[in-house]
Amino acid sequence: KIRVRFAPSPTGGLHLGGVRTALFNYLFAKKHGGDFVLRIEDTDQTRYVEGAEQYIMECLAWCGIAPDESPATGGQFAPYRQSERKPLYREYAEKLVAEGYAYYAFDTPAELEQKRKEIPNFQYGHGHRYDMRNSLTLPLHEVEALLHNGTPHVVRIKMPEDDTINFNDMVRGYVSFETNQVDDKVLLKADGMPTYHLAVVVDDYLMKITHAFRGEEWLPSAPVHLLLWEYLGWKAEMPKWAHLPLILKPDGHGKLSKRDGARLGFPVYAMNWTDVKSGELTEGFRELGFLPEAFVNLLATLGWNDGTDQEIFTLDELVEKFSIERISKAGAKFDFEKAKWFNAEWIKKAGAESLKPKVAGMFADKSIVVKDEDKLQKVIELVKDRVVLLADFYTQGAYFFEQPKQYDLNAVNPKWADTKTDFYNLLIDKYAAIHTWDAAVLESEFKALTEEKGFKIGDVMLPFRIMLVGGKFGPHVFDIAALLGKEETIARIEKALT
Ligand code: GLU
Repeated sequence: KIRVRFAPSPTGGLHLGGVRTALFNYLFAKKHGGDFVLRIEDTDQTRYVEGAEQYIMECLAWCGIAPDESPATGGQFAPYRQSERKPLYREYAEKLVAEGYAYYAFDTPAELEQKRKEIPNFQYGHGHRYDMRNSLTLPLHEVEALLHNGTPHVVRIKMPEDDTINFNDMVRGYVSFETNQVDDKVLLKADGMPTYHLAVVVDDYLMKITHAFRGEEWLPSAPVHLLLWEYLGWKAEMPKWAHLPLILKPDGHGKLSKRDGARLGFPVYAMNWTDVKSGELTEGFRELGFLPEAFVNLLATLGWNDGTDQEIFTLDELVEKFSIERISKAGAKFDFEKAKWFNAEWIKKAGAESLKPKVAGMFADKSIVVKDEDKLQKVIELVKDRVVLLADFYTQGAYFFEQPKQYDLNAVNPKWADTKTDFYNLLIDKYAAIHTWDAAVLESEFKALTEEKGFKIGDVMLPFRIMLVGGKFGPHVFDIAALLGKEETIARIEKALT
């Protein structure tokens, strides 16, 4: 059975690249009827951030990509939080030491610091392995005494010299590494916690992971993981890797980082994230008014396409069409304008009924209490094709629920009150007498009056819109009046004329 994992470290909010990794894992698993596992990689206590795990789970739920196994749902291979699996890793580290693939290192932080000062680009290994205080250089009885006394130590992998390590990446194809370029990475830290390298390999093995999609930034770690798998002597095949292309800044220059959002004026986090220490808020796609369907759709296109011109995909369609062959090796530029286009398309596609709770919630946040649900639904239908972000329902629709606070007089020239008061007073009379209050009737009455009084339609129609809406925007003006109702339309004309 296909089993994939999304293995984030809970160090903060999820960047869109992180969610894309989760999505590609999910799509692949679901396409093949497999399982999607969420594993929380929280072995680095110094980078652990309160609330981040909760955020990750909420984010996956928002996107509709629910894990089959996770810290919250549990599963056959629980626990799914690495900090809760701590005792397990030491056993593997000890085994590696016993078999000569790893060694204890007793160097103190001060000693390491000193070495780094003396030797530029100092790396443990590469001719510096035997300069240090470790079980390769110390006599056995001394090592035993140090261990016996509880001397702080780490376990490091012993990288082979002058060797090459190759593997076949599902996206990148044949990849090859010189072992001399990789230092003796720490596997087990002084606090007894494994490092990412050891934990990821052990857990992929124990959790029977068959495939793993992860960011390209992990590619340099792959040789360490390959060696560990080999050294641990497991019969099972190592998970097949797909290293996903980087997500680049809009201009294509460099990786899009978490910090870029604020600078470039668009979100890079999936949802709002408040930094625990500084209290600083980073805005997310969700709160900015993206629909999850649109967010997922745009993420899928960052480094993947189905080989046709189709751009709009539901999650089910993505599951059906996803294929590794169509993941690109080249970095994918993130284009916020395009992201907004996806959202606009999804809002057009969405039923007014399904948008209603979201729009009502947003109106409530802006102190507009919607009492008439039916009217809200009609408003949504009327303006939804003009909306890009959910918040636009406010600018495009709030005037249906409250009178304009001001009028965009610049849009009307000359000012209606000076020259056309008569016209609108007559319009009030005409409208007051209407029995069937619908857009077609309102329009024909309006036109008849315009002709009768010798006005140009353009000169009287725009001011009419401003009276109702406040500005030069919105759908067909008679549709607006029809939805506002007779009393309200007349009241707005009267108010505007005073
Ligand atoms: N814990 C790693 C991260 O935070 C996971 C990398 C991997 O998938 O192997 O991205």
